[in-house]
Amino acid sequence: MEVKDIATLAKYPFLKESREYIKGLSISVDDLLQDLAYERARVIGLERVENALRKGDVGNRSLATETDCIMELLSYPIARMISVCVGEPYLRRRYALGEAIHFYKYLQNEDMSFLLWVAKELGMDVKTLDSRIEIYFVDYLKNAPTRYKEWKLVNRVLDRGYVYINHRELCRIIEENLRNRIVKELDSRECEETVYKTFQKEIEGFRNTVRLKIKKARTKSIGKVNMTLMPPCMRKILSMIQSGENVPHMARFAIVAFLNSLNLSFNEIMEMFRNAPDYEEDKTRYQVEHITGRKSSTKYTPPGCDKMRTYGICPVEEIDEICKKVNHPLSYYKLKWKLSKGKKK
Ligand code: SF4
Repeated sequence: MEVKDIATLAKYPFLKESREYIKGLSISVDDLLQDLAYERARVIGLERVENALRKGDVGNRSLATETDCIMELLSYPIARMISVCVGEPYLRRRYALGEAIHFYKYLQNEDMSFLLWVAKELGMDVKTLDSRIEIYFVDYLKNAPTRYKEWKLVNRVLDRGYVYINHRELCRIIEENLRNRIVKELDSRECEETVYKTFQKEIEGFRNTVRLKIKKARTKSIGKVNMTLMPPCMRKILSMIQSGENVPHMARFAIVAFLNSLNLSFNEIMEMFRNAPDYEEDKTRYQVEHITGRKSSTKYTPPGCDKMRTYGICPVEEIDEICKKVNHPLSYYKLKWKLSKGKKK
């Protein structure tokens, strides 16, 4: 399949053809950043980041003329360069999610042949058989949000190595693939001095907004839990969630089970995730419901210090005197609480 229509390229700037189109324009990075002719692309680039940060979607703009489309296309690499220069994992994740959600909205209106072509470009093995859509199970496991019940492989039809999905699910899988891809690409890039100088004021503005948001989230108490009594391991996991770093599954499990054991309500635990850059209500809800026993008969307890160490989520370089006296994060909290009471007397 070949996309000739520039509006389609502008909607999907991650496609190989879109990148080739930009290359064909032979615009140097310096021109893109300085030339008056690309001022609009720079404004849209900033708008993409701003919208992703504040609204969770990079936003729609008119694609009525060829110039509209070219400016939209050029704004994509600009937005990515700005996101890298902000230097905050939270913003990179928030931006990646904003782009992926936007692509998902466009993809839902595309026909099957286009979706198959995009999936192929992203390296996924997807095919149609009669009216059925099938994805190779390895690609399914790599890209589908299988942490949620309806996506788990056991709840799917698996036939000769292929999983049955529908049109909307394929869009969702592509969205997840793009989100991960963008995060990975941005995480591996360095900020270019010329980009920083061009957008210095705005980059500093984004940085301050993000840092303020993270600081607020870190100091805000969660329900009745006193943050100053939290063990180093749980403080670290919380701060990773709130700054948008990659949090291993076991760490997410540990913090939810820990807060649940301290009798935090379901809503209070959900609130903690709400500050995460890639927060998605329905998915978080499913995980939290599962761990807290709201939806299943099992209520999980948090792992002890030995297990935390085995999983690499006990920050051994940050442990303190209380850590040395306990063998469970919950005991840490209780002992610190007792000690703080003793001091007050
Ligand atoms: S020693 Fe235990 S309580 Fe302390 S940080 Fe490690 S896992 Fe947490």
